[in-house]
Amino acid sequence: MPVSTRAAASIAELEALERDHLMPTYARLPVAFVRGEGAWLHDPEGNAYLDFLAGVSVSQIGHSHPALVEAVQDQAARLLHVSNLFYNEPGVRLAQRLTERSLGGKAFFCNSGAEANECAIKLARRHRPRGEIVVLEHAFHGRTLGALSATPHLAKQEPFEPLVPGFRVVARDDPGALAGAVGEETAAVFVEPIQGESGIHPISFEVLHTARKACDRTGALLVFDEIQCGMGRTGTLWAYEGAGIRPDVMTVAKGLGGGLPIGACLTTAELADVFRSGDHGSTFAGGPLVAAAASAVLDVVDDEGFLGEVAAKGERLAAGLRGLGLSAVRGRGLMLAFAAADAPELVRRALLEHRLVLSATGPDSVRLLPPLTVTAEEIDEALERLGAVLGRP
Ligand SMILES: *Cc1c(COP(=O)(O)O)cnc(C)c1O
Repeated sequence: MPVSTRAAASIAELEALERDHLMPTYARLPVAFVRGEGAWLHDPEGNAYLDFLAGVSVSQIGHSHPALVEAVQDQAARLLHVSNLFYNEPGVRLAQRLTERSLGGKAFFCNSGAEANECAIKLARRHRPRGEIVVLEHAFHGRTLGALSATPHLAKQEPFEPLVPGFRVVARDDPGALAGAVGEETAAVFVEPIQGESGIHPISFEVLHTARKACDRTGALLVFDEIQCGMGRTGTLWAYEGAGIRPDVMTVAKGLGGGLPIGACLTTAELADVFRSGDHGSTFAGGPLVAAAASAVLDVVDDEGFLGEVAAKGERLAAGLRGLGLSAVRGRGLMLAFAAADAPELVRRALLEHRLVLSATGPDSVRLLPPLTVTAEEIDEALERLGAVLGRP
């Protein structure tokens, strides 16, 4: 039977299928989504949920954005895949656009955030052979073995030791320690300008400037992981723009494809040709379909007026959170979090009782990452639902 005419499986059936056939790596909440439009998701019964997670900063221009749907349908009907042994115009055009709008050098495409960081790790090693990579405490750079080695989180790392050697961890709020850890033997310093998975923690401009100076002094590469905080999320196209410095290398993914899997590692002009032919590669990367999707996302997001609205909507949401009496409200633009005593339970009740999609980044913090196209009315609606979750009048 075609999927569209088959009756939707119940949650109990889906749970049983998962139990029998999927490796148990995810803790899922008992809701299945079958359709999305803008900032709204629908379950099989037709219930509408307000999506303030956007697939973890992926559905950047909302669900089923007409321009994105059209670009994907059009490209899918034309050509899905050709391999990187041939040219595809959407891929090279996207590289041109991304590099011109960021660091001015060149792009390498891949299929995920972790892969974008794998590329940056290899680039750093190519730049300074056998060099060490400095990472910040509480960072998250991905789950593949190289990216995991850059993610200093004991529970995530320990079962998979031995990790890739050559990573050194520094506190995220100690400029002196950072400066001291970077030397002639350092290949790169990796920083998420706003740490996402650890609970939306902006790295101070002082630490970012210290990292920049240490890299300038030693020739190490400053690598910004903008996989979660980039693509307009903070009200500028890239989060680093507010800091008055720029990195040598930047990794992007998540929101870049608006829901399709694409990542990129971007460099300055000086580093554009560090990789030589054969140094790196990927079968699917930068194919015509995902490139067409990313281009359609950029058409919407890379616009001064649109980004100004993201900043204004972020302020509205942050003010609303503070108005609810929430504490430790932090973040920038539409990348926000607050403290909550039992965050997973709060998120569960928000979803199941008030149809508001949020995410817990640990036992005590709740994260909000709505689509950047969310309206002021939808922000107010989300705040009202959150107030109901919290039992506030
Ligand atoms: C999500 C994320 C990654 C990993 O991306 P995947 O696509 O899941 O591999 C890496 N870095 C940051 C900052 C992220 O938020």
